[in-house]
Amino acid sequence: MKEFRNETYTDFSINENQKKMEDAIKKAESELGKEYPIIIGNEKIILDDKLKSFNPAEKNQVIGIFQKADKETGEKAMKKSLNFFKGWKFSPPEERAEFLFNAAEIMRQRRFEINAWEILEVGKGWLEADADVAEAIDFLEFYAGEMLRYSKEQPVLQIPGEKSELVYLPLGVGVVIPPWNFPMAILCGMTSAALVTGNTVILKPSSDSPMIGQLFMEILQEAGLPPGIVNFVPGSGSIVGDYLVQHPKTRFISFTGSKGVGLRIVEQAAIAREGQKWIKRVVAEMGGKDAIVVDNDANLDSAASGIVYAAFGYQGQKCSACSRAIVVSDVYDEVVDKIVERTKKLTVGPTKLYENYMGAVINEKAYNSILSYIEKGKEEGGRLLTGGEPAEGNGYFIKPTVIADVKPGDTIEQEEIFGPVLAVIKAKDYDEALEIANDTDYGLTGAVYSDNREKLEKAKKLFHCGNLYLNRKCTGAFVGVHPFGGFNMSGTDSKAGGRDYLLLFMQAKSISEKIG
Ligand code: NAP
Repeated sequence: MKEFRNETYTDFSINENQKKMEDAIKKAESELGKEYPIIIGNEKIILDDKLKSFNPAEKNQVIGIFQKADKETGEKAMKKSLNFFKGWKFSPPEERAEFLFNAAEIMRQRRFEINAWEILEVGKGWLEADADVAEAIDFLEFYAGEMLRYSKEQPVLQIPGEKSELVYLPLGVGVVIPPWNFPMAILCGMTSAALVTGNTVILKPSSDSPMIGQLFMEILQEAGLPPGIVNFVPGSGSIVGDYLVQHPKTRFISFTGSKGVGLRIVEQAAIAREGQKWIKRVVAEMGGKDAIVVDNDANLDSAASGIVYAAFGYQGQKCSACSRAIVVSDVYDEVVDKIVERTKKLTVGPTKLYENYMGAVINEKAYNSILSYIEKGKEEGGRLLTGGEPAEGNGYFIKPTVIADVKPGDTIEQEEIFGPVLAVIKAKDYDEALEIANDTDYGLTGAVYSDNREKLEKAKKLFHCGNLYLNRKCTGAFVGVHPFGGFNMSGTDSKAGGRDYLLLFMQAKSISEKIG
């Protein structure tokens, strides 16, 4: 097996790559509006109730038409998944890993095509789409390698008169519920981890990005994965998602999304229902209110650039996005000026054009919610420095927004906005900055800019977040390098892309035989 290496990003400054991307977008545009079925085992199901996916940058453009799975369809998916589990759980781990390696290779070949659909379906910029697909490839190869490691003899102590071993078994049928914001990487990461460990999966994609789920299903099929191992059930989270979460035969739920939905899943999954023989396992990766702290010893240009990239990349719609810049008072005005200067240079518009750095936000609900947070920020005394209003276009475009003089405890300092809004907060000194950083319900990512070693060491001890970065931005985790996942209300403390992630999808069996 070759050593794991992160997939490199496509260099779009090369003309040939630009041309390939433009062609892929044109091709995807020529295929808009097709209808896709639910996939359960060998069956392709069409229902009366449809789910349309729209382009957020072109409000009325239909990306694809999907089926809205109801409870009966959910039940059917569960029955089939239980049945397929009987055989899949005994399949050799090496074979399962091979499917993932194959899928990674196919994804590599179809990279521009997937990028194009991401640009159209969820409004990613070219670089952001490409990075998402690269991450998905990484998950496939990393988890395949990890499964091979777990399938080897495990280290247990031996005592005289016995031969002991420990083996890892799959759990059962898992329900995978991803968000839309990393539409391939997260969906692929959670699903591939679940299937490579020997579980069968019911995959309910986000209603905002079912097309990317469809592409993933095609790739699995092309990779030779037998039907029925992953069953594709688009539909409303609050109907079919909820039904599957509550189902007594669901063994585990792998969820990434908002705090509200995550907490509901944890609560519902905790109820033991009739016919249920286990405690459901829930892996919930949830929201963030991530902060970058700037100390007076920092390189202020690099801090301001890091803040702006982390705040406005993909319109701020990342769980890791910097939504708070906490700056110590000595350098506050200077840093604010540098942030505003850089933010004003960002271009907003349809991201099918490479030159637009920021695209539309995902949908109307998000658009309205972000604009109302901006109003709230101003009402509570924040000073609007740039943005704060919609940008032109037939989509959900919002200008990158910087609000300064936000106070600790203000609404936009505490709640996840999930859009292009940066709150800047003044701290009297470095210690207070760290206190403010920690003072939310979340604990996902964070960063500190300082040239002072002692202060960096202090951040390592005191900044309570799952992914801490020193002198770099707080977005952009690499699989295997920065295992990803947060503390507190940011989730159940798991680490996607880390060496202990697959354990969440397995249970260990200890076996000892008397000898001699
Ligand atoms: P969301 O609204 O919570 O939805 C996530 C998924 O849950 C969707 O597939 C949704 O389906 C489904 N769902 C909704 N209600 C449900 C229910 N009652 N039962 C079961 N499933 C249900 O989140 P989102 O808007 O897609 O994603 C943005 C959020 O994800 C942000 O809070 C962000 O911070 C977080 N996130 C966290 C991480 C991390 O690693 N910690 C990574 C990425 C994103 P429908 O689409 O059909 O409603």
